[in-house]
Amino acid sequence: MNRTEIYLDHAATTPVDPRVLEAMLPYFTEQFGNPSSIYAAGRQARAAIDQARARIARILHCQPREIVFTSGGTESDNLAIKGVAWWHRLNGRGNHIITTAFEHHAVLHSVQYLEKFGFEATYVRPGPDGIVRVEDIEAAIRPDTILISVMYANNEIGTIQPIAEIGKLAHRYGILFHTDAVQAAGTLPLDVERLHVDLLSLSAHKFYAPKGVGLLYVRQGTKLLWQQNGGSQESNRRAGTENVPGIVGMATALELAYAEREERNAHLLALRDRLIDGILQRIPDARLNGDREQRLPNNVNVSFEGVDGETILLNLDMHGIAASSGSACTTGSTEPSHVLLAIGLTPEQARSSIRLTLGKDNTEQEIDRTLDVLEETVTRLRRLTSAQARAR
Ligand code: PLP
Repeated sequence: MNRTEIYLDHAATTPVDPRVLEAMLPYFTEQFGNPSSIYAAGRQARAAIDQARARIARILHCQPREIVFTSGGTESDNLAIKGVAWWHRLNGRGNHIITTAFEHHAVLHSVQYLEKFGFEATYVRPGPDGIVRVEDIEAAIRPDTILISVMYANNEIGTIQPIAEIGKLAHRYGILFHTDAVQAAGTLPLDVERLHVDLLSLSAHKFYAPKGVGLLYVRQGTKLLWQQNGGSQESNRRAGTENVPGIVGMATALELAYAEREERNAHLLALRDRLIDGILQRIPDARLNGDREQRLPNNVNVSFEGVDGETILLNLDMHGIAASSGSACTTGSTEPSHVLLAIGLTPEQARSSIRLTLGKDNTEQEIDRTLDVLEETVTRLRRLTSAQARAR
């Protein structure tokens, strides 16, 4: 098997920063206690969790008790949506949820699941630029709307949504507002007051911490039916022994990301623009998917007319370059991306797309090498397709 030499799939996951790993290590060995145990080793683990909660709360501008640790973005999204829905059902208070057509499946499938139980949902379509219009959300509001869920930044095309405006709108109507901020964490501000959110999902492995840990911010007073039953962890809100090393790692990684955010973003932006400009200048009939300005500093999503995206990815992999055709969670599915269809691409255009997502350790040389391989690959595949067409 060949090796990945150039990793351009940071929206799928990121490597653990060595500084994060170092902070985590003691909690696997010397300080392995269960935070619920009353003796010293347990108390040490409890203290580590309490500190992590306080450190994260400073970045989110919230109170530490408004943070619920989870197993990642998927669990946080499920908890936010199902928790709000079931509480309202139990208390006879409305039945309608608004979300968008291009959410991550953790949100979309949670809402679709609730529809099986009689909840009703409106899936607002983003514009062709990959941005949801506040007016379209407002037009979907009904007297029985209980929750609006709109992602902060899209995981496939990187477009940034007007979260603060949607939050203000939701609150004007007395509706709860959830945002899936999984892709935004690290690059965009996470101040929950300025974002006007009641619920916000994060996943540690997207910002150089390990997989399998995340959090849900829950604004004080937000009514939820907690979904994980068992012990009294997380103040009776999320049962299960806490992932102590993971939680410590997440807090450390988040602090590093926000301490270094300006430099990281400037670096990413320069690389992203080099990649986008290089592709559009060097490869004919290539189009950038999603708004060029309102997008994450590390996201490039492009369609190459007449070429199959998966085939491009296989060729890139043969050159040691890792990229993806969209969400890692749907890899292997032959369905075209629901995100690209939602912004108006045809199934054929959607299938001709690839996503390249950059990280803090990528270099200009890596971008230039990727451009060379990409240009050569697309040109060769197009030549092959036209030769096959002529032979038919
Ligand atoms: N939401 C978004 C926008 C994502 O990009 C992802 C992961 O790709 C998730 C949720 C799921 O997070 P996790 O992998 O931690 O379950």
